[in-house]
Amino acid sequence: MEKIDVLSLDLGELKTKTQSLGMKPFRAVQLFEWLHKKHVTSLEHMTNLSAADKEKLKEVFDFCELKTEELQISKTDGTRKYLFALEDGSMIESVWMSYHHGNSVCVSSQVGCRMGCTFCASTLKGLQRNLTAGEMLSQVYAIANDTKERVSNVVIMGCGEPLDNYDNVIRFIKRLSDPNGNALSQRNITLSTCGLVPGMLKLAEEDLQITLALSLHAPNDDMRQKIMPVAKSFSLDSVIGACRNYFEKTGRRVTFEYSLIKGVNDTPACADELSKLLYGMGAHVNLIPVNPVTERGLTGTDKSGALRFKNLLEKKHINATIRREMGRDIDGACGQLRSRHI
Ligand code: SAH
Repeated sequence: MEKIDVLSLDLGELKTKTQSLGMKPFRAVQLFEWLHKKHVTSLEHMTNLSAADKEKLKEVFDFCELKTEELQISKTDGTRKYLFALEDGSMIESVWMSYHHGNSVCVSSQVGCRMGCTFCASTLKGLQRNLTAGEMLSQVYAIANDTKERVSNVVIMGCGEPLDNYDNVIRFIKRLSDPNGNALSQRNITLSTCGLVPGMLKLAEEDLQITLALSLHAPNDDMRQKIMPVAKSFSLDSVIGACRNYFEKTGRRVTFEYSLIKGVNDTPACADELSKLLYGMGAHVNLIPVNPVTERGLTGTDKSGALRFKNLLEKKHINATIRREMGRDIDGACGQLRSRHI
């Protein structure tokens, strides 16, 4: 029998399940609090449960315990990059970043990725499998325990394409923000997608208050198709349409990610085209010089080039920020740590 992903269940579901195992309803409350308030995923440490109950729970539930395989800490900004081993031995990475406004955790949503973006290390070996909601929650909880600090922001921007693992990602977001448990405000959760239009449209109907980020990276279809194979399936028109729809349905502004690749998408002509594409959307563009991935042979735009690009956008009334490159000294970009490991 396949075990149930216990972290993915809401309190009602957990009550039903534990009662069917012959336990009192308050046991479910205790278990839920251990998991989602105290972030304890090891039965061993749940002191108010009896040994007999723990045996039953162990048989039925999967607790998604992660093993820290490697931890890198940046000397320049304290960014912590974790390589976690899952129960089946797969490796994933998660990142903790400390900002003046709080601590942010970047989680992976899949083992590997099948989107094939040319600048990204996560996709080098393709997709191995989807992560369960519990495996995503465990990344946040393990890091909260390790740092002993509150996690105030979660971004689904690690390895994998979240909308390619739709149902598990929605469960993850609901549990992370569950008022009975971890209670993180949905406004402090960001989901980043390479632009899977059907998923974006569906997400707009979920009645969630999360921020949607679109990995744009190019101002026209031609260029986007060259660096992001997914752009062959969904035109920029339809992707931008899905962004507008998300804003209309949820009232939440979409953020645009734009990784600057030297000599490819960072020219003044690109800035001009980008500003026309996004004009009138109240758009915010996050610029980040692409982190060089050795296997990919692409270089990031230098500081002055990034600044020039930002100024050109602002002249055309498009808000833009150059993101601090956190943890550059520690395999900063998506999938780099995992990729070096395998
Ligand atoms: N699949 C999702 C989320 C994962 S990637 C998406 O595509 O949005 C998170 C962000 O990092 C994306 O904007 C992605 O394009 C970007 N990224 C990937 N590799 C990068 C690199 N080497 N340098 C800079 N940004 C990178």
